[in-house]
Amino acid sequence: MTTPTIGVLALQGDVREHLTALGTADALARPVRRPQELAGLDGLVIPGGESTTMSKLAVTFGMLEPLRAFVRSGKPVYGTCAGMIMVADKLLDGREDQETLGGIDMIVRRNAFGRQNESFEAAVEIAGIPGGPVEGVFIRAPWVESVGAAVEVLATYDGHTVAVRQGNVLATSFHPELTGDHRVHAYFVDLVRRARR
Ligand code: GLN
Repeated sequence: MTTPTIGVLALQGDVREHLTALGTADALARPVRRPQELAGLDGLVIPGGESTTMSKLAVTFGMLEPLRAFVRSGKPVYGTCAGMIMVADKLLDGREDQETLGGIDMIVRRNAFGRQNESFEAAVEIAGIPGGPVEGVFIRAPWVESVGAAVEVLATYDGHTVAVRQGNVLATSFHPELTGDHRVHAYFVDLVRRARR
């Protein structure tokens, strides 16, 4: 089967790191800034960064509705940190005018870990990812406050949900793209390959 093409939303955030991680995980990766660049993608990554800025830029670039349509289309989407916030159906501690795309029936609390500890690393065991825990890099990270029945909790840390999946939409509070371990990206690329069949 041909190599899947996966976009990385490149309005703001750690785009380059995701492009590299996806390349290592055997996908063709390309940055996406404009609605027409969503065409032909097999999957999409929403990077870490700053979700209020990303939300604002998505509105400015006319990307909000095209991105929502992409998520609704059922193609796989993976959000890390700010990206997790973007795929949340509901948000706590967001800015008043902050928009999300939705996609996962969950309530995410923005900057939840940030209040306790700006940034830290911790070993996180993720269901469905063999080979032992991944190194979770948490930077002003959100956590998942609650999930609906259709959502699978893949990982918790310190009693808080930090990785979830609903159908083809995946989200982590932490940043696997900032480590040399690309197993989470490989898991996502696998999801993309299966969705294409
Ligand atoms: N705290 C950031 C936000 O609200 C997310 C941080 C991150 O992506 N590392 O968007």
